[in-house]
Amino acid sequence: MGRRSFSRLIGAAVGPVVSRPLGFLLAWWFPSVCLHCRRWVPPYRHLCDACRYAAPRVIPPICVKCGRPVVAPGLSADFHGLCTPCLERPSALDGVRAWGRMESPLREWIHAFKYRGLARVVDRLAEWMAEDMRPWLQETGAEVITFVPLHRRRQRARGFNQAARLAQALARQWGLPCVDVLVRRHYERPQVGQTAAQRWDAVLGAFAVRPRRDLRSFERWLIVDDVMTTGATLHACAGVLKRAGTRHVYGLTVATTPAVEVE
Ligand SMILES: [Zn+2]
Ligand SMILES: [Zn+2]
Repeated sequence: MGRRSFSRLIGAAVGPVVSRPLGFLLAWWFPSVCLHCRRWVPPYRHLCDACRYAAPRVIPPICVKCGRPVVAPGLSADFHGLCTPCLERPSALDGVRAWGRMESPLREWIHAFKYRGLARVVDRLAEWMAEDMRPWLQETGAEVITFVPLHRRRQRARGFNQAARLAQALARQWGLPCVDVLVRRHYERPQVGQTAAQRWDAVLGAFAVRPRRDLRSFERWLIVDDVMTTGATLHACAGVLKRAGTRHVYGLTVATTPAVEVE
């Protein structure tokens, strides 16, 4: 095993758990490498600055509501309409955007924090998202950020909630408050392999507002998650927030699934 792959292994194994001084000592001894291009990067950065531009970004035309790329013959970049799923199933959200598409290499970076526990990858992506999504944030007028909660059993298994970490990092960079107001009541099995309709039904009713939270001090909310697939999770969370008295709810994710159709 080469020194680089050995340091990656060490970084992946101990990065999230060691104390700061020990972490720096290990990083000095075993510097980390970029997940994508394998260049050397500062301790636990995991992704180098150049690889930001390797991420597959969402580019117009997009659905004005769910923000997913849309495909149809002859559609121009200034398309200003709804995709077929949004027409068929109106969402509780006022608008959603994703920073990138759930394709390689962004998919692997997301898997790195979701399944390999590399929590600091979230911080890197949040840095890039904070910069790139700032104009859209200003359009929404969002005053406060919250996140999609994990069920406590899933959170215990993973060690952290990636959506919460992302929301906190974005809130810090945008100077907005980040509040923990939602709770996940049901434990659902991973959604891989379910149809869109099954996912949509499974997730409704899974969320609630935490007891004794008054949400009326803010009118415009932003809810953050890592990936949008059908939009059902964000829709369910936004519905709960609106029933609790919030007026506008927007959604933001790191990545969204590939293009949807328009009629
Ligand atoms: Zn790189
Ligand atoms: Zn849409």
